[in-house]
Amino acid sequence: MSKYWSDAIKRLTPYVPGEQPKESGITKLNTNENPYPPSPLAEAVIKDFDTNRLRLYSDPDCTLLKDAIADHFSVERKHVFVGNGSDEVLAHTFAAFFQQDKPLLMPEFTYSFYPVYCNLYDINYEQIPLRDEFVLNVDDFDQPNGGIIFANPNAPTSRAIELGEIESLAKRNTESVIVVDEAYVDFGASSAVELTQSYNNILVIQTFSKSRSLAGMRVGFAIGHEDLIDGLERVKNSFNSYPLDMLAIEASAAAIKDQTYFEETTQKIIATRTWTIERLAELGFVSLPSKTNFLFTRHRILEAAELMGYLRTKKILVRYFSKPGIDNYLRISIGTQEEMQLLVDTLEQHPDLFKL
Ligand SMILES: *Cc1c(COP(=O)(O)O)cnc(C)c1O
Repeated sequence: MSKYWSDAIKRLTPYVPGEQPKESGITKLNTNENPYPPSPLAEAVIKDFDTNRLRLYSDPDCTLLKDAIADHFSVERKHVFVGNGSDEVLAHTFAAFFQQDKPLLMPEFTYSFYPVYCNLYDINYEQIPLRDEFVLNVDDFDQPNGGIIFANPNAPTSRAIELGEIESLAKRNTESVIVVDEAYVDFGASSAVELTQSYNNILVIQTFSKSRSLAGMRVGFAIGHEDLIDGLERVKNSFNSYPLDMLAIEASAAAIKDQTYFEETTQKIIATRTWTIERLAELGFVSLPSKTNFLFTRHRILEAAELMGYLRTKKILVRYFSKPGIDNYLRISIGTQEEMQLLVDTLEQHPDLFKL
């Protein structure tokens, strides 16, 4: 605390991102990054970039990137908003739509940044309990609200719901904006982008950080009715006119055009995910059915916190949340086949595993 902080800043509880270790030789399975490099098309854009161009500001409208995204999803440019990572798009979404009298609804276990934004923007929210095995049932969201947000697939649970359920939420809540955070949708779930064409209250948010291997470039986007997009533009243009730099605009536009590479890398991750779930099951782990590039898994006997600590001593990082209800689970990102083999081999050597 400093006497110079404003009262609003004193009240914040900032988000704590997963560790980005400075030392080398670490197997990083803790922040759901993609183990494969970005598309060669994006790499070529970066390598060929004329640095003299950086004297000028980047395009505040990011037209090149919006057009590439619009093309990819067969929507119009006016339905697309882009930002500095989907975290920024989310922040603007909370400011634009969720400052209402009625509470924002979100699942009890979901992306832990949402309550942080509520705190930042003084938004009243309610956490809706999940059913057994972390199943999200949309009927549980049937109550007065000033908006609804969830990740689909959800994090850290890795489970997805069907489009019909999202559609029913939109129909039942015509006075609220329904935000679907699709950070992991490309690993096996169905995207609600098509619903945004018929429901003016659905906003879909996606990122280049996970399925397109560009976490370090910070590019996210939203797709929805143009009134929602205009709302986001109003916030953005009251905050930072140039959220994306030239390299980010041009490299991500190239990346989204590379469908072949995208399919090849996401399919590899899905195959490795299936393999990992089976190997871990042989070691006594129970994993939720994952539609993401990570597993939410618990061991039948050993404690998650202890396992996380053990793996850390072996230079393997996984994510653990010490929150009641999920504190016996590990969230493990899907790396390359070799990385997951190393994970399995290392767990197999855990001194207590076969004594049990
Ligand atoms: C990773 C993640 C994001 C943030 O992605 P960035 O685009 O890198 O800011 C948003 N939502 C969820 C659920 C995520 O897991």
